[in-house]
Amino acid sequence: MVRSKLQYCAECETYGLGPKCEECGSSMSPPSPLKYSPEDPQGARRRQRQDAGSEKWVESLPSAGKGESEEES
Ligand SMILES: [Zn+2]
Repeated sequence: MVRSKLQYCAECETYGLGPKCEECGSSMSPPSPLKYSPEDPQGARRRQRQDAGSEKWVESLPSAGKGESEEES
């Protein structure tokens, strides 16, 4: 089995390994490490690794629904 880079389908918002999406047949492209999607299953894990809570991070969010961080006080 050949290992290829993980690709991302913006149409289905899903990840795959082939050059084309298995769901819709659209061309897959490498996922952007800086783009956050509410559907991204890796999002939570990424937010822990990155500096979640910073201004840059907040701006990258598609919605400000969870703007309140745990920085209370
Ligand atoms: Zn697709």
